[in-house]
Amino acid sequence: EQNVNNIKHEYMKLFQSENMLLPFTWIVIRIDGSHFHRFSEVQGFEKPNDEQALKLMNASAVAVLEEFNDIVFAYGVSDEYSFVLKKNSQLFQRRASEIVSAVVSFFSSTYVIKWKEFFPEKELKYPPNFDGRAVCYPSYEIIRDYFAWRQVDCHINNQYNTCFWMLVKSGKSTREAQSLLKGTQAPEKNQMLSQLFGIDYNTLPVIFRNGSSVFWDKEMMVTDNGVIAKSHKKVVVDHPNIIEDDFWGAHPLILET
Ligand code: ATP
Ligand code: ATP
Ligand code: MG
Ligand code: MG
Ligand code: MG
Ligand code: MG
Repeated sequence: EQNVNNIKHEYMKLFQSENMLLPFTWIVIRIDGSHFHRFSEVQGFEKPNDEQALKLMNASAVAVLEEFNDIVFAYGVSDEYSFVLKKNSQLFQRRASEIVSAVVSFFSSTYVIKWKEFFPEKELKYPPNFDGRAVCYPSYEIIRDYFAWRQVDCHINNQYNTCFWMLVKSGKSTREAQSLLKGTQAPEKNQMLSQLFGIDYNTLPVIFRNGSSVFWDKEMMVTDNGVIAKSHKKVVVDHPNIIEDDFWGAHPLILET
């Protein structure tokens, strides 16, 4: 018969694989809402873009940056958010499962707590959940490529969804809308929007076209006579182009270690 008092701590720990993330690389935690196609329908999100839903995502991301000091930047679109940790972060000794689960659970519970702030009239019908993954990016060029990739995806999806929902709202079936858009390139979609619906894609809200970036920035405190009294850091949400160099050039500390 087994004596449970003899089970050794070291022995049980042998079965835990450690999944340590590569040192001196940028760790990106990307979370994504599970089945948000359904969630957005059940909760009656505006299509193609519910601005309040995006702002709730952004507010939850702000809370994540305030909670986890090592997270230096985040980029969000639709039901996803990417969080990047500083290169030399030692959070959870860089163990992937702890980092991912801590970030994703903090984000999810914040999303639920803040729901009524953004949807005071809408009851939350069921608990949403998010999945998360960790990926290491080893060089400055590659981490820049990562964010460019996400923002390009934002543009492509937003353009498609804007056309799709305009067609559906104008009376086309979802199948008809899909087949009208099949194989079309960006210029054709822009043309469709302007010719059929009088919409200039480039004038749509920048939060829809560019997604949202969250980072620590200096906040200037201005006194009555207009003198800058002091500046302290604060988490801000903005919608810059993160494909080109301008934003990163203006914020050189974000991707510095
Ligand atoms: P999965 O579980 O595989 O992620 P999913 O249904 O969440 O499946 P996604 O590819 O992540 O699929 O797409 C998210 C979907 O959620 C979008 O296609 C859109 O229908 C909906 N959605 C997310 N955010 C918004 C928003 N702010 N406004 C309107 N719809 C949204
Ligand atoms: P870590 O972040 O490392 O997990 P921790 O503070 O959560 O730190 P644990 O070893 O997980 O530490 O211990 C959980 C602690 O939470 C307990 O020591 C206890 O103080 C408190 N706690 C958890 N559940 C209860 C409960 N049901 N009643 C009272 N205290 C509780
Ligand atoms: Mg997913
Ligand atoms: Mg999803
Ligand atoms: Mg998604
Ligand atoms: Mg613990």
